[in-house]
Amino acid sequence: MTREEEIAAGLAAVRARIDAACAAAGRERGSVSLTVVTKTFPASDAAILAGLGVREIAENRDQEARAKHAACAGLPLRWHMIGQLQRNKASHVASWADVVESVDRQPLVGALSRAAVSAGRTLTCLVQVSLDGRTDRGGALPVDVPALCDAVSAAPGLTLGGLMAVAPYPGDPGEAFARLARLRAHVLADHPAATILSAGMSGDLEEAIAHGATQVRVGGAILGSRPPVT
Ligand SMILES: *Cc1c(COP(=O)(O)O)cnc(C)c1O
Repeated sequence: MTREEEIAAGLAAVRARIDAACAAAGRERGSVSLTVVTKTFPASDAAILAGLGVREIAENRDQEARAKHAACAGLPLRWHMIGQLQRNKASHVASWADVVESVDRQPLVGALSRAAVSAGRTLTCLVQVSLDGRTDRGGALPVDVPALCDAVSAAPGLTLGGLMAVAPYPGDPGEAFARLARLRAHVLADHPAATILSAGMSGDLEEAIAHGATQVRVGGAILGSRPPVT
């Protein structure tokens, strides 16, 4: 099998899972978009994905993402930042990202806003919610999320898209995504346009779709296993 055939097979399987999960949840087919996570995989895989109709690509490290973004110039891709982000990387990230899914602290909001304005760009931001009561691996505590959403929505150069979360591991993703769905309803009452809910990965996209995810972020199930993080 060529790499393209391999990726096409993974993509077809994941698209079938998304369709089945939408049907099981009584949701319209096409109501969930797929973002493919290319971290650790080469830019050539992102180019293959573009050729197979993928439009949303996610990366979790600024330097790696910048290189792939440059290598894929001209392809019709939108780039998502999904990794923990330091304030001093905001201006770099604003140069390649269309969507920043990992906004989790007030100082980052100011830094991204200044970076977006000076780059003449508008960044869609998702506030990342921690579902395990900790903040060391990224994500804001649910109690802090409404104020962060207010800050993003008031910041020049930023648009509040909605929320993002990763299910705790180990743990019950269904229970965690149910909590996320309640928080999202609360945020939507104040910010009706913030309709994005980015949740669900290779192992738990069905549970996320059952709880209202509008975007899933899938890496391994499409591209194969990644080398372990060191
Ligand atoms: C790596 C990553 C994913 C994709 O995970 P897979 O299990 O490979 O599908 C999704 N979201 C975030 C935030 C990630 O870091």
